[in-house]
Amino acid sequence: MFDSMQSDPDTFIQLASEISALHIQPPPEDVLPSEEVVTQARKKIQKHLTQSGFSFGETIRHIQEDLAPGFNGSSRSPHYYGFVTGGSTPVAALADHLVTIYDQNAAVHLPKESIATNVENAATSLLGQLLKLNPSQWPHRVFTTGATASNVLGLACGREYVIGKAVAHRKDTISSVGELGMVDAMRRAGIIRIRILTTVPHSSLVKAAGILGLGRASVVDVGLPYAPHRFHMDMLKILLDEPGTASIIAISASDVNTGLFATAGLKEMQEIRKLADAYGAWIHVDGAFGIFGRVLTDPVHSEIISACAGLELADSITGDGHKLLNVPYDCGFFFSRHREIPEQVFQNPNAPYLSTSTATDAIVSHSNVGLENSRRLRALPVYASLRAYGANGYRDMLGRQIELSRDIAEYILDSEDFELLPESDRSKEAILKGIYIIVLFRAKDEGLNKELTAKIKASRKIYVSGTAWEGGPACRFAVSNWQTDAKRDLPLIKQVLDEVIESWKSR
Ligand SMILES: *Cc1c(COP(=O)(O)O)cnc(C)c1O
Repeated sequence: MFDSMQSDPDTFIQLASEISALHIQPPPEDVLPSEEVVTQARKKIQKHLTQSGFSFGETIRHIQEDLAPGFNGSSRSPHYYGFVTGGSTPVAALADHLVTIYDQNAAVHLPKESIATNVENAATSLLGQLLKLNPSQWPHRVFTTGATASNVLGLACGREYVIGKAVAHRKDTISSVGELGMVDAMRRAGIIRIRILTTVPHSSLVKAAGILGLGRASVVDVGLPYAPHRFHMDMLKILLDEPGTASIIAISASDVNTGLFATAGLKEMQEIRKLADAYGAWIHVDGAFGIFGRVLTDPVHSEIISACAGLELADSITGDGHKLLNVPYDCGFFFSRHREIPEQVFQNPNAPYLSTSTATDAIVSHSNVGLENSRRLRALPVYASLRAYGANGYRDMLGRQIELSRDIAEYILDSEDFELLPESDRSKEAILKGIYIIVLFRAKDEGLNKELTAKIKASRKIYVSGTAWEGGPACRFAVSNWQTDAKRDLPLIKQVLDEVIESWKSR
């Protein structure tokens, strides 16, 4: 039986090199396989477990020919503009293969046996340096499976902290949610509700509130009526001030729908920090892709640079690796300034066989400060990509992405048939300065607008995702691939959009 699990080395090496070479194929023409190809592939998925299994070679053939026929790297195409999930830099993609080959378990810090945890610590430190979040001030830094998981961590830490703050004046009691659970901890703290005060939250933040027993209903929108992404500061203060209430303030640093940032500059962040301190609130930033605005330095990006200023005043920050960092799925990260909170929340208690040996360095085992115990070394692709491209590489990459996004937005603004969203009475120059990597728009013709996203996708030349705006359909470019090149990519985008308009008018 064990024989059929082996493969002969020559076959393995030949297949491995062919598969690896797929990373360096040029960008494909089609960003979507045809529906027919997808339907045929779905039919070939194995449904019944066999007793004897298939061979190594047959199984790899099955994956390549049956499940991913004619794979041409379409999901890695620079013309894929859906969901802010860009691509994977070549060095990150190869490092990800090595993660599988080395097969390290990055759960426990074992300094005499492995440097995996040191690599992870270095990777989060390099990332902190890239994002101007001084690693020494952000001692709780972990890799997660994505921004959703990071938002769960953020609200879990916030929940622990705000109840702890509420009880701080009562010396007779302890208040850890991790230890006592929500009900008892809140009762002892004399709190009757916890609210998450936010604007334009990502769905995953609301999901995190549900998972953590805070409740989706605890998420309260405090946006301004005329600018829903911005905080209504008076309302924020009133809600923070409510008796018996503990609060987490959640800042959307680039909303996934519009790309707009909840705060506009350092002053506003300082004001929110002051309020949070006065009321014992926790500030969590969801910067899944927005946090990367902190790598920018060019004056053409001044509005984005301002919007990212002061985010270092938060208590915790969510970031995504598999979005603008362009490393493979699954990779997110979570940073917090609090050294004491994580072990109250995430400790993996009474597991002596997992205890860290006598480590004298400051590295703690992930199993006590994050969600998982056993986990892959997802730090390595991040480490590799930051090592290979440096801060300038990432600055250049994001600069090209913003350039294309602004070019698309300008085309939309100049068009008679499309309308850029949200509507604005600012000048064209001012609007373009606020564009980050998301371009939200709709067709002026209602009939076309209903079919716009489908028609663009049907070209198979570019991929966009559909969304909603003011109760109607809208369409969205999320530019997030390391290969983005405005000069090469804009003409193709214009061509597709022009053709959609022409065929609609001549129908
Ligand atoms: C994408 C995104 C998330 C969720 O990220 P996943 O990596 O898909 O879990 C959360 N918040 C924001 C702002 C996002 O853009």
